[in-house]
Amino acid sequence: MKPPKFRYVAPRTLDDAVALLASDPDAKVLSGGQSLMPLLAMRLAAPSVLVDLQHVPGLGNIEDEGTSLLIGARVTHREIERSAVIAERLPILSSAVVHIAHPQIRSRGTLGGSTAHADPSGEWPTILLALGATMHAVSPRGRRTIEADEFFVGPFTSTLAEDEILTHVSVPATRTAWSFQEAAVKKGDYGLALVAATGIPRDGVLLDPRVAVGAAVGSVRRLAEVERLLAEVPMTDVTADEAAVAAAVSIDPISDIHGNSEYRRKLVASLVRRAVRELRNGA
Ligand SMILES: Cc1cc2nc3c(=O)[nH]c(=O)nc-3n(C[C@H](O)[C@H](O)[C@H](O)COP(=O)(O)OP(=O)(O)OC[C@H]3O[C@@H](n4cnc5c(N)ncnc54)[C@H](O)[C@@H]3O)c2cc1C
Repeated sequence: MKPPKFRYVAPRTLDDAVALLASDPDAKVLSGGQSLMPLLAMRLAAPSVLVDLQHVPGLGNIEDEGTSLLIGARVTHREIERSAVIAERLPILSSAVVHIAHPQIRSRGTLGGSTAHADPSGEWPTILLALGATMHAVSPRGRRTIEADEFFVGPFTSTLAEDEILTHVSVPATRTAWSFQEAAVKKGDYGLALVAATGIPRDGVLLDPRVAVGAAVGSVRRLAEVERLLAEVPMTDVTADEAAVAAAVSIDPISDIHGNSEYRRKLVASLVRRAVRELRNGA
């Protein structure tokens, strides 16, 4: 189906992009278009104007800031896949990115678009939550930062305001124990269940563990019960089976044509079991 009529603007500065977005309550940001354009074609969205970020400078870099990497919202999935600094400092991103769709989509889709879209089946929301990332946004009211814990609040819903542009994501690079697990029908499909787990290893103990689940649940969320089991006990004392049971009983999985809730519960349990085993090896 053809999209409804819309106006298209391609500002050359961030200030202009902010002003254009704020000038019309039905305006929407366009980044890679890999989620928005299908929504338009299916007539599930009908924005009056699309504010394309592709010519806005400063949104396409990956900067090493020591304890974290600052990744521009316009950095594509493909650039993440090919980035040497990400492979070295944030290998969880390199490991997960190949699960996102196919090379054509990864060439256009962006980190900022995925994050703002807040699809519970998206790899980035689950991983950014497990890493405790910080989102940077700008609007006519100025700049602000939003922690991942406060950012993803529901299916396809974030706390980004309608007139805010996500400019960067700051991703901690200190969580060197990590695991990313995905179950999908086939490579490139959206996952049926995603689990991302990270922590700071110190003397065989995992400090500040964060475990997030996506796809199997209506909205990405942390698994507090699993985190409690992992927190600050010798990793050799943590049993992967206990963590799997804790995950299974703490979630309320979705049911759809791809798998019912009991199937997804088993998938999450199995992914958490694998993730804890990997964390144990990294701690
Ligand atoms: C066939 C297919 C398979 C896919 N499979 C997967 C998959 O397996 N895993 C996965 O994670 N994704 C998948 N995707 C989605 C893809 O990753 C998209 O790239 C991503 O979801 C959106 O990024 P985008 O840059 O294309 O954003 P767009 O489509 O341009 O925008 C998406 C939404 O975010 C808003 N937005 C975009 N950028 C900003 C910003 N900087 N500030 C504020 N709001 C913004 C837009 O207004 C829009 O509402 C798939 C897409 C397709 C077409």
